[in-house]
Amino acid sequence: MSGSPGRVAIVGGGLAGIAAAVALVRAGRPVTLYESRPRLGGATHSFERDGLTVDNGQHVFLRCCTAYRGLLDRLGVADQVRLQDRFDIRVLTPDGRAGRLRRSGLPGPFHLMPALATYALLPAADRVRVVRASLALARLDPGDRALDRIDLASWLTAYGQREPALRALWELFTVAALNAGLEETSLGAAVQVFQTALLGRAGAADIGVPTAPLGELHGTAAQAAIRRGGGEVRLSAKVTAVEPGADGPAVVVDGVRVPAAAVIVATPHDRAARLVPAEAAPGRDRWSGLSASPIVNVHAVYDRRVTGLPFAAAVGSPVQWVFDKTRVAGLDGGQYLTVSVSAADRWIDLPAAKIRSEFVPALELLFPAARQAALTDFFVTRERRATFRQGPGSGALRPPAATRLPWLYLAGAWTDTGWPDTMEGAVRSGLHAARLVRRYLRQGAAA
Ligand SMILES: Cc1cc2nc3c(=O)[nH]c(=O)nc-3n(C[C@H](O)[C@H](O)[C@H](O)COP(=O)(O)OP(=O)(O)OC[C@H]3O[C@@H](n4cnc5c(N)ncnc54)[C@H](O)[C@@H]3O)c2cc1C
Repeated sequence: MSGSPGRVAIVGGGLAGIAAAVALVRAGRPVTLYESRPRLGGATHSFERDGLTVDNGQHVFLRCCTAYRGLLDRLGVADQVRLQDRFDIRVLTPDGRAGRLRRSGLPGPFHLMPALATYALLPAADRVRVVRASLALARLDPGDRALDRIDLASWLTAYGQREPALRALWELFTVAALNAGLEETSLGAAVQVFQTALLGRAGAADIGVPTAPLGELHGTAAQAAIRRGGGEVRLSAKVTAVEPGADGPAVVVDGVRVPAAAVIVATPHDRAARLVPAEAAPGRDRWSGLSASPIVNVHAVYDRRVTGLPFAAAVGSPVQWVFDKTRVAGLDGGQYLTVSVSAADRWIDLPAAKIRSEFVPALELLFPAARQAALTDFFVTRERRATFRQGPGSGALRPPAATRLPWLYLAGAWTDTGWPDTMEGAVRSGLHAARLVRRYLRQGAAA
């Protein structure tokens, strides 16, 4: 069956490629998913280390991530994540002060107003200013392309946001959601995040965390689902070219030309720019402008419990967000914490010893019980190209799914999904590309 012209070739087995493959097999379309690595899951994966199952980087999602949650349903793993009943975040500081942001029972966009009005990490005058800026942000038109050219810091400052609010509130969410500092974030991208998640429906920002390793949640489950649906998954299979050809489209895999009914390129943008023929996407040379932004995860294993919180955010600390990974990783005694550090340009090239010398004391300030605990393991995972740089002007560089070749489509969290570079964006892009492929194949059959 492999290589039959009837098969749709999907290049790249991250969440975008997985979502497209699952959608197409469910619609009865024969599919081959090619992934150059020996596993599916792309930027979300796990590995074994001394008996622990370690995620390459902590991933969270929100209740408003409906496409991603739908994929979990279709993969049969929706019970392997935990979604908060009500948005609730503890915000810790090194000097022991703590804030709590918990949504009220009010409808959106007012559900967070009581929490903001009592947020202990902000002076009272800044709380009022935050509410005013939030309401102004809620009124911006997310479809206004001009917002993409403005940086978020400038807009917030113009709306009266001072240093305490920038650091203790706006940065808390922007850095994690957009993997960029306020100065490097496009206002357009931020508007989408804030309007959809924090200023939209009341439950939209309730936080979901996996309770199983990412490798199982996405990679293993997807491989089984695609094969169950009659699709083919080829691992360690690098596609080196996508060719039009007189006899119809084809992909070149390990030097072999394999005909395809249609092709979805669901790789990161740098690979896509090399694979997609120039006539298909004249803008492809500009995709490199999307560049890449790193995320570093700092992993600390203690011989005892040092916190009862499942996760927390921090301000005034190199720790941005910290998660209890003890159960997910399969640790029997003690506690395993992962610190997720986004927009990690400052850390990405530092040796683990240097990172340790900064983060271990920082964790002890946030969790005083850690001072009495012994650190039994410490390591760092680095994702140099975690997301594209979602800065001013980046929105204009993101291409649509359709190319100029009717049988060739793009997917990936970096394409023009209307969402930031996230799991939700990736899944949406895959579903959209799959819809376009089905329409193309239907039209082809009718012609
Ligand atoms: C550390 C980290 C933390 C993150 N945290 C979050 C979070 O909390 N919440 C969130 O929503 N998002 C988060 N993200 C972002 C999220 O992981 C990505 O947006 C999403 O997974 C991207 O999926 P994708 O399918 O578009 O691309 P990818 O996952 O990059 O998949 C592309 C695939 O294509 C394959 N490929 C490339 N070239 C070829 C080729 N020539 N032939 C065959 N295969 C090829 C690659 O091997 C890869 O598997 C995080 C990312 C990282 C790295």
